[in-house]
Amino acid sequence: MDLFEYQGKQYFARFGIPVSPGDVTESVDGAVKIAESIGYPVVVKAQVQVGGRGKAGGIKLATNVGEVRLHAGNILGMDIKGHVVKRVWIERASDIAEEYYASFTLDRAAKQHLLMLSAQGGVDIEEVAAKDPEAIVKLHINPIEGLSAARAREAAKEANIPAAALDGVAEILVKLYECFTKGDCDLAEINPLILKPTGEVHALDAKVSLDGNASFRHPEWDEYEATVELDDREKLAREKNLQYIGLEGSVGIIANGAGLAMSTLDVVNQVGGTAANFLDIGGGANAELMTSALEVINSDKNVRSIFINIFGGITRGEEVAKGVVEAVKRVDLRAPIVIRLDGTNAEEGRRILADAGIPASKLISKPTMLEAARAAVELAK
Ligand code: GDP
Ligand code: MN
Repeated sequence: MDLFEYQGKQYFARFGIPVSPGDVTESVDGAVKIAESIGYPVVVKAQVQVGGRGKAGGIKLATNVGEVRLHAGNILGMDIKGHVVKRVWIERASDIAEEYYASFTLDRAAKQHLLMLSAQGGVDIEEVAAKDPEAIVKLHINPIEGLSAARAREAAKEANIPAAALDGVAEILVKLYECFTKGDCDLAEINPLILKPTGEVHALDAKVSLDGNASFRHPEWDEYEATVELDDREKLAREKNLQYIGLEGSVGIIANGAGLAMSTLDVVNQVGGTAANFLDIGGGANAELMTSALEVINSDKNVRSIFINIFGGITRGEEVAKGVVEAVKRVDLRAPIVIRLDGTNAEEGRRILADAGIPASKLISKPTMLEAARAAVELAK
């Protein structure tokens, strides 16, 4: 679950990471109230879950009431890369001497936590990685040993962070690591982490993604649930209890099992297509489930073909086939289906599909995943 900046900062604050005083609001009057109480100058910041807000005009400095009104008025309702701004965060403006980058993530391949640190912050870290990869220090952390202040300081030194900022950066890294581990984050990122002219180090931005698997031990996360923004497809999928993630492409995907669903996205990409979604229908594939899945995919205006990729294990091929035939009757589909059915009783399943009398313009069956992907991508062109 991705947090908005203001939520990320409030989360940081719980772990003692210094952030600017501020508050969030949905109105211009609210923005004025906050600004008046924290004192000028303030920064008015669009709360959307997308980077590059500054460049898009979503972050403005205000030195008086008039400017707060003007900027909050402009920013509220603004569309930033398809995200409409519903809230602004108003915080005390900071003087910046330098901007750094710091983040913790899980490196699954290494089975360790990963610190990424750079003295070149404030810009996209992907940009730094592309232009000057040496400028990013990567440190793997054994989760049992944790991260000591001494080790954090060494990493900061290695990243060419100036002597004056080393202690402050190290202290924040240790706290950010606490936040990442005890706070059950998938990602805890500060960009920029700033050095003020006065020598203090401070988090100016916050990008936090929480690990949904840990929600059972965080009842306080409910408040973040409430602000999660789903698109219409995702809302429908949630109503229908489907494991669905909306993407931008044109090939609708239905697969059984998360691993197969991910492989399906890969194979669609591999043959030159783009997936419209991730959708794992799990173990079963009866008519109800298949109908729900097709309804969600059908609601996506970008979908031009549908790739159903099923490998029968416990789920038997003939049951899947019956489910698909029934679902195709129930849903008035806008796009053709390509199905690859393999595994347990696949032959019987394919026979059922072939005998169902569904025209080839609506449903075609392919024997392998690759052939099915090619056909689906061709149809989506
Ligand atoms: P992002 O562009 O969406 O990542 O938003 P950030 O919160 O990282 O802000 C982008 C940039 O705006 C920062 O790198 C700063 O250069 C600038 N900025 C944000 N807040 C302040 C502030 O309080 N003072 C100053 N001087 N600049 C700020
Ligand atoms: Mn940022």
